[in-house]
Amino acid sequence: MMSENKFKCPVCNSRYFLTRPNRYDILEFLDGKYKIVTSEFTNDEDRIFCRECGSEIDERASMENKRVILQY
Ligand SMILES: [Zn+2]
Repeated sequence: MMSENKFKCPVCNSRYFLTRPNRYDILEFLDGKYKIVTSEFTNDEDRIFCRECGSEIDERASMENKRVILQY
C-alpha cells in the first residue's frame, strides 16, 4: 500500500500549506484606529510554510523529489 505521507508535512502530518505574503503594511494609530501609512514589500521570493506547525517548506526540493521537503 502506498503511503501518502510524502504529501504531508514531515513534522506534523498536515496536508495544508500556506504562503506568507511578501508584503506588509505599516500602521499608525490615529484618531482611535489603526491606519495604513504605507505598504512595504520584501525582496524575498514567496515562501511556503506548513499551515499547522509553521515549518518552512523547500518548494524546489519538494518539486524535484515529489514529496514534501522542509527547508533547512
Ligand atoms: Zn507541519
